[in-house]
Amino acid sequence: MTGAEGRCPICGRPSEPKARPFCSARCADVDLGRWLTGAYALPVEAEEDEDGQAPPRDDPGQARDPSL
Ligand SMILES: [Zn+2]
Repeated sequence: MTGAEGRCPICGRPSEPKARPFCSARCADVDLGRWLTGAYALPVEAEEDEDGQAPPRDDPGQARDPSL
């Protein structure tokens, strides 16, 4: 049983069939982390709700208090 599947792109060890093409889940995680880090350059839309409840602010286009 020689790992002829290839080598782990992370550490260069023979890849494990259950974790291909990596040698272990950990290396797969490392690769995923790198991938996500690279993806950070793209516009993120998933966390757009981070602000959640924005403080009430005046709508610049609408009429405000008539007393002004
Ligand atoms: Zn590895």
